[in-house]
Amino acid sequence: MKLFDLHCDTAGECFNQKLPLYNGNTQLNICKGKSLDKWAQVFAIWIPDELRGEKAAEYFEKVLANFENEILINNGKIKLCQGVSDLNDCEASGRCAAILACEGASPFAKSEGAYRAKELGVKLITLTWDGENEVGYGCQSGNTSGLKEAGKALLKDMDKLNIAADVSHLNRAGFYDVISSGIRVLASHSNCKSVLERYRKDSEEKAFACRRALNDEQIRLLIECGGLIGINFYKNYLGDSGDDGFEAVYRHMAHILDMGGENILAIGSDFDGCEIVPELDGVDKVPDLYCFLADKGMNEALLEKVFFRNAENFFKIILQ
Ligand SMILES: [Zn+2]
Repeated sequence: MKLFDLHCDTAGECFNQKLPLYNGNTQLNICKGKSLDKWAQVFAIWIPDELRGEKAAEYFEKVLANFENEILINNGKIKLCQGVSDLNDCEASGRCAAILACEGASPFAKSEGAYRAKELGVKLITLTWDGENEVGYGCQSGNTSGLKEAGKALLKDMDKLNIAADVSHLNRAGFYDVISSGIRVLASHSNCKSVLERYRKDSEEKAFACRRALNDEQIRLLIECGGLIGINFYKNYLGDSGDDGFEAVYRHMAHILDMGGENILAIGSDFDGCEIVPELDGVDKVPDLYCFLADKGMNEALLEKVFFRNAENFFKIILQ
């Protein structure tokens, strides 16, 4: 099977735990991806909410330097994609096509920051994490304002430089600002609020997950603008204990498909960024999910779109 995964935190995990990208004890590594026929992977460098300004920029570049070194060591198995030709080359040669992302825009929030992101090879920026940063307010910040002026300026430059805007983690007002700006937009690792509302028992965890999830209007707008939604495998964002694996993934997917999202539905595993149930807690287990969904009646053409083609179409534009 082919996999195009829109989000993992493996690059940071390799740096912080000093683990090899080839076969480190991570949910995602090169070895575990060997069974995939084609594989494109967005590697996000996550910026913790405690790091701001120069400190965030320094941290990003340190993690990136380590990641680039790992890619060098594994040359022949993985390549960092700068353009469409790299993506095509990886598909033809069986290498993992790595795409660089920044989760939390702090490193690039200052004026002209997007140009530095472009220089470093960043193809998408998740504007905030859960809290507030220089550009806006995350979904758990408690603030309902839209993007800050620095965020609007960053978006303009990102649009000019063809860097996609990722709205996962962003609060709803910020989301609408991003959508109305007309930039290429995706929710790299987000699930459906209405599914959580229907299937989860009332709890603080449920309320937390619902704030982080997309409501139906957001899903509709992402469909309308030709974005992407990557389904997140984090157990708390899928369902309640005991119902937080394959079946729950299917439920979130079915909801987006029911809304007409066949061409924007994708995978955003969040490997190495969260707790995942054992049946799904590694990139080597994604083929089992594929088989489960096929048994549920999702046909091959649809599965090909969800697991690969939709994301590939999106990134062929971003990597131009
Ligand atoms: Zn995240």
